[in-house]
Amino acid sequence: MTRTLDVAALVAGARRGDPRSVGRMISIVEDGSPQLRALMAALAAGGTPGPARGSRAHVIGLTGSPGVGKSTTTSALVRAYREAGARVGVLAVDPSSPFSGGALLGDRIRMQEHATDPEVFIRSMASRGHLGGLASATPQAIRVLEAAGCDPILVETVGVGQSEVEIAGESDTTVVLLAPGMGDGIQAAKAGILEVGDLFVVNKADRDGADQTARELRHMISLGGSPQPGAWQPPVLKSVASRGEGIDGVMKALAEHHAWLEQSGTGALRRRQRARTEIQGLALAVLQARFGDLGSGGTLDSLAADVAEGRLDAFTAADRIVAEVAG
Ligand code: GDP
Repeated sequence: MTRTLDVAALVAGARRGDPRSVGRMISIVEDGSPQLRALMAALAAGGTPGPARGSRAHVIGLTGSPGVGKSTTTSALVRAYREAGARVGVLAVDPSSPFSGGALLGDRIRMQEHATDPEVFIRSMASRGHLGGLASATPQAIRVLEAAGCDPILVETVGVGQSEVEIAGESDTTVVLLAPGMGDGIQAAKAGILEVGDLFVVNKADRDGADQTARELRHMISLGGSPQPGAWQPPVLKSVASRGEGIDGVMKALAEHHAWLEQSGTGALRRRQRARTEIQGLALAVLQARFGDLGSGGTLDSLAADVAEGRLDAFTAADRIVAEVAG
């Protein structure tokens, strides 16, 4: 194996839907490898023309507390989209884990039914070593799957925490999953998840309390005020993902939201917002790295001595650092 990487060949491979090329490219994204820059430039430039060129996939984010049924629902959705003849991408994103690659996937038993389907691209991803962290790794991985002709792309958040809300920002449509049970709705409100949900699904509707949870949710959504004309009204649905029940309804709502995104122009706005976040993340990471270089034994140390000994004020010192970092 040569160490030089033929970016054009990889891009062409991905456009043909070659899983090895796609896997390789996502590894490059995930590791923040030196080839990443060339790869993203090739994808942006259109590279080798292919069937997926210029197409935009519907990016669907699934989020919710662990155990609520995200993985089961993702798998059921993959099945339904495959039946509709789509090529599907799945990205399982773990914002909290330093581990990546196949390890996590191995645990995701419920995805196994799709593991051998050549029209399904499944990858788990962590932010190991990535410049700009997960915030820029996710859109890059989405771009790779898009180039491979995947549409839709399901982005499932694995793990817990505030990052669920951040991940929601990466999608065209965010599906918030809940399960019947005490205080689940309240927790959702607390986590700020009510604001990010385009679609709410009360999964495990075979259990007691599903109707009540759905009612609570609708009530909480209505507290946000009556919607503007033409605005999207997030529906609250019920499902039993483990039996595939209610998945049709979720598919229908996803298609409606996708159509609304395009008609209202919100889709374009969201894509632009995503690009902003991505650029900011990368730019800040570059600046931070440069700032680090100014640290021990560098400019920062000598300025710190000046400020500490009263020769210079901290504002002027900060200005000098900023000038040097940006220069
Ligand atoms: P995740 O952690 O959110 O990805 O949740 P999983 O998809 O791994 O599901 C957690 C558990 O709930 C598994 O044992 C599933 O089989 C089970 N489960 C998923 N959907 C349903 C459902 O609709 N009803 C019931 N009773 N169990 C479900």
